[in-house]
Amino acid sequence: MLIDTHAHLNDEKFNADRGAVIARAGELGIQKIVEIACAPGEWALGEKLTAAYPDKVRCAFGVHPEYIKDFTPAALPELEKYLQTPCAVAVGEIGLDYYWDDHPRDLAQGGAVGTAANATAALRQILQAGGVPRPQRQGIRG
Ligand SMILES: [Zn+2]
Repeated sequence: MLIDTHAHLNDEKFNADRGAVIARAGELGIQKIVEIACAPGEWALGEKLTAAYPDKVRCAFGVHPEYIKDFTPAALPELEKYLQTPCAVAVGEIGLDYYWDDHPRDLAQGGAVGTAANATAALRQILQAGGVPRPQRQGIRG
């Protein structure tokens, strides 16, 4: 099975042909796509995209360092909420990105580490609780 593990299909560049792009990926043998919702403003869009293409798209939720200024402690419970949805398959994207070096490094480092730690803790809680109930889910592995 081929899985595209890093897509930004909610980018406005795909507004005109998002569905065609997803269909073309399938024609090329890509059976699953992981949409990256890496800013608080993208989380709802990621969930919406997976709802529109439930057999094809799943979502990673996180905060890219580029958007760390938009991430407040109050947003963490919202991130945890999205990580517990059936469409979530990963935390991301997060990390210390020096390629797009236009964000405050100290803030990004602190935020990324904090986000990763908290998101990991949230995922651990979910897994220890037996995972997210997914009775009708066709998972990324399926
Ligand atoms: Zn990305």
